Amino acid sequence: MSVISHRDTIVVGGGVAGCTAGLYAKRYNLDVVVLDKVGPGGLAATAALIENYPGFPEGISGLELTQRMYQQAEKYGVAIELTQATGLAAQGDRWLLHTTHTDYLTTAIIITAGAHPRSLDVPGEAELRGAGVSYCATCDGFFFREQTVAVIGGGDTALEEALYLAKLAAKVYVIHRRDELRAQPYLQRQAFDQHNMEFIWDTVVTEVIGDQQVEALGLQSKKTGEQRRLDLDGVFVSIGYKASTEWLGDLLELDDGFIVTDQNMRTSQPGIFAAGDIRNTPLRQVATAVGDASIAAYSAYQYVSQREG
Ligand code: NAP
Repeated sequence: MSVISHRDTIVVGGGVAGCTAGLYAKRYNLDVVVLDKVGPGGLAATAALIENYPGFPEGISGLELTQRMYQQAEKYGVAIELTQATGLAAQGDRWLLHTTHTDYLTTAIIITAGAHPRSLDVPGEAELRGAGVSYCATCDGFFFREQTVAVIGGGDTALEEALYLAKLAAKVYVIHRRDELRAQPYLQRQAFDQHNMEFIWDTVVTEVIGDQQVEALGLQSKKTGEQRRLDLDGVFVSIGYKASTEWLGDLLELDDGFIVTDQNMRTSQPGIFAAGDIRNTPLRQVATAVGDASIAAYSAYQYVSQREG
């Protein structure tokens, strides 16, 4: 039988939102623990340079920013326990959280488990993952020094990945399914200025080709239907994110997989709050994750206080 740990607040996810929720919860004197399957940092830790988080006019690396956030949470006594949430169910008027190590009985729960990259779901992608197919340029870009790579997507992530890769690789193709980018104008301007970046518009990837290693992409024009092969060494898939909500089953109201909350970060279940990239929100930024998480911790504090009279 698994051990049950009793808390009044559990935070699931140790990224920007999780560290912020932990920090605020601790300052509201809640008995809180933050859980993460790999440790603090989350997705923002993989960003090479974060230039739009206020207070850092020169920009700051995602790793350094998230490390600083964790250090600040630690200073107030927030502990991160390494374990992965696997299920959540009501137990009386509390919540029983199942994880790979321990079960937790808690009054309030703040879900900040973030999101993970979407895959293209084309032949060859899964087989060549880690052999030329990547979802993170700052993690894997180094392996493609002076080589030819492609980034798939037209959003902020795709252009940030492409700009990072343009400093390392000889040639970077950006392959987008429309003829207009979704990314913020300042990123578009930077990308259009790169001499070694080429945009392939109105085009989708139909196949990742390679035996042991990526050798080429199969492409198809959305305008003419024409198919062609593009030889290259690596492909970075940046077509958005899927919320990490699989472990919740149908417990909470979701919108396209993202957790629906009100402005107080309350979900469809009492005592369960959500913040950061996992939430149904129009903007996924470090700044919005910090704002959401501080509100979620305040709401959890009010919820716990009311229950304890
Ligand atoms: P996103 O904004 O959802 O963009 C995804 C891109 O991939 C879109 O251009 C989309 O095309 C394309 N796409 C989606 N599915 C596709 C498919 N199956 N095949 C081909 N292309 C596909 O995702 P994101 O760029 O990862 O950004 C996620 C959130 O994080 C956004 O809110 C973004 O603003 C934020 N973010 C901000 C920054 C920053 O502020 N510096 C950096 C990174 C991310 P369509 O355009 O045709 O839909």
